[in-house]
Amino acid sequence: MNIPFNKPHLTGNEVEYIVQAHTNAHLAGDGPFTKNCHDWLEGSVNSARALLTHSCTAALEMSAMLLELKEGDEVIMPSYTFVSTANAFALRGAKPVFVDIREDTLNIDERLLEAAITKNTKAIVPVHYAGVACEMDSICDLANSYNLTVIEDAAQGVMSSYKGRALGSIGGMGTYSFHETKNVISGEGGALLVNDQKYVERAEIIREKGTNRSQFFRGQVDKYTWQDLGSSFLPGEIIAAFLWAQLEHAREITDSRIGIWNNYHSLFEPYELQGLVRRPVIPEDCVHNGHMYYLILPDSVSREQVLSDLSNDGINAVFHYVPLHDAPAGKKFGTTSGTLEVTENLSARLIRLPFWIGLSGEQQEKICSSVIAAVKKQVAK
Ligand SMILES: *Cc1c(COP(=O)(O)O)cnc(C)c1O
Repeated sequence: MNIPFNKPHLTGNEVEYIVQAHTNAHLAGDGPFTKNCHDWLEGSVNSARALLTHSCTAALEMSAMLLELKEGDEVIMPSYTFVSTANAFALRGAKPVFVDIREDTLNIDERLLEAAITKNTKAIVPVHYAGVACEMDSICDLANSYNLTVIEDAAQGVMSSYKGRALGSIGGMGTYSFHETKNVISGEGGALLVNDQKYVERAEIIREKGTNRSQFFRGQVDKYTWQDLGSSFLPGEIIAAFLWAQLEHAREITDSRIGIWNNYHSLFEPYELQGLVRRPVIPEDCVHNGHMYYLILPDSVSREQVLSDLSNDGINAVFHYVPLHDAPAGKKFGTTSGTLEVTENLSARLIRLPFWIGLSGEQQEKICSSVIAAVKKQVAK
């Protein structure tokens, strides 16, 4: 019996809503299902404007266009993140400046941010790893005092919060991903949360090929024309219909995942006490969404060997990000501020365990005993 790493979860109404989108005879973007998704996001997240996009990558690209970044501008972010966090800004000619992460949450280390700020800095992009919030109060205070924009990469943070505020709603803008590997999904998909009112009008224009078509549809103008640079960032109604079936059940999805997460957390507790693994840390101010369960292996243990032992047991566990400052394009387009010791150390020791709704308690016990056997085998040597 193989245990896959991920299995997309269906809530039940996806196909029915897709049929309905067809029946509505509105398959292009911004139809009734997109509106449902927008209303849900704006209401539950408390954002001035939510806009569905093709992906979180597209939403990040929109945020970079909204900031009017140009050659020579700098954007501070962690190196321990997905490619798109950096690529979206590099596409506009800006330079990603990579900063180290915290030991506990693997989120950007807010204590290192001020040293990375130069006269060219325009934005800070905190990434909420595993749906656990960055230290947003310190980050936003610092950004305010230097007049920088905070763009939250909340790709993994749907339904998570920091001091009671939804992730993605705290910075000037925030981005979500509905990729198949995330919690709430539409295959490919994402959203830009425009929290600062001053970006709303241009965000709509950028998303609609540089036109004021959104205003036209609302009857605010009597024709629509080319207003600014833009592209086509909006998904069609079939994607929105699928997503709406998921958003309607976002609470249940999250609760199920937190149940799986808590079970892993208690299964590994005794082994953390023995020093065999390190479990994730959730700071007090953070409510997470059970996005992933990872472990940090002891320094002396070969991760490759552990993953291969697990694979032999039919368990598909994986590593995560290869730090961007060390990647070919990271070296070409980005730069670093300070050392990235914690990033280099922890990224090489991290494994992610299978995580999907339907993973049974029995399977989780099997995964736990396989991990512990694989680690013990090496520690004993
Ligand atoms: C998944 C992810 C993205 C990209 O999301 P897409 O919707 O696939 O574009 C960006 N940043 C982080 C941190 C992610 O986890």
